[in-house]
Amino acid sequence: MIELFFLGVGATFPIKGEGMPCIAIRRLGEIFIFDFGENCQLEFFKSGLGVNKPLHIFISHMHGDHFLGIAPFLQTLSLQGRKKELTIYGPKELRDHLLNTLNLDTLRFPIKIYEVKEGKIVDDKEYYIEAINALHNIEAFSYIFSEKEKPGKFDTIKAKKLGIPESPVRKKLKEGIPVKIGSKIIYPKDVLGPPKKGVKISYSGDTRYNEKFIEKAYKSDVLIHEATFSIDDEDEAELTGHSTSRDAAIVAKRSNSRLLLLTHISARYSNKNKLLSEARELFRRTYIAYKGLKLLIYTDWKALEILFNSIY
Ligand SMILES: [Zn+2]
Ligand SMILES: [Zn+2]
Repeated sequence: MIELFFLGVGATFPIKGEGMPCIAIRRLGEIFIFDFGENCQLEFFKSGLGVNKPLHIFISHMHGDHFLGIAPFLQTLSLQGRKKELTIYGPKELRDHLLNTLNLDTLRFPIKIYEVKEGKIVDDKEYYIEAINALHNIEAFSYIFSEKEKPGKFDTIKAKKLGIPESPVRKKLKEGIPVKIGSKIIYPKDVLGPPKKGVKISYSGDTRYNEKFIEKAYKSDVLIHEATFSIDDEDEAELTGHSTSRDAAIVAKRSNSRLLLLTHISARYSNKNKLLSEARELFRRTYIAYKGLKLLIYTDWKALEILFNSIY
């Protein structure tokens, strides 16, 4: 199970109750944060994400609403007693920004800063993270978090029939390695059920409609897509390198995603339901993300549980 926290959902202009872009994924105690706008640390601590957990921050691009909250956050973590290393990924200029803003040596925990290029940027045993070039008015990235497939359930009845003893050979089969029992070779598929699909979460960052993102976001469990503009302001979206609610819905539909969460809606729209209707015309499973929204995502389709523990 993965927990997805919306720590901030606004765009550019601060609005009470919305916060700046900031999304956190928690998986087995490890935390991945995508974008960290001004003041996002308030919601981070309110959400109980802790001080000393393994933590990785991914910044989509160098527009203030997406990264200006990092430096004060690092300082707070240090004052709160963080000791564990923290990793930060982002465009080239992010390192200079942090070095100019903070004396990193005064922090009580080590930091690693990586420059992001398109492609797989993290490759763990159990998950990976990809960066995709977004189509914005400066260099920008979309990010995709994917859990790797896990081997299926071990069938003890079949194993017994095949004469596989309760010994370390079973462990090998569970890990996907064929074994030899007497003169017979047993393959993992002989005793394992279908592989278990991992959770996939795609985050667009700021971008125009992007075919490449559609391709990479294929079958996302949750697609988080910016919808800065209504279709009435399509020209402005095009001009400023942003998407309309309709663009986001097309991306969700074409990528065959399960759920679409709209975010980064311009402050000019006091009635967001209009944007929601525009998107739902094309993709029914669309919702508007709000600050404080938390989703629990299970690999089992039917068990998708949305907890609207709203601040409203
Ligand atoms: Zn933005
Ligand atoms: Zn931007």
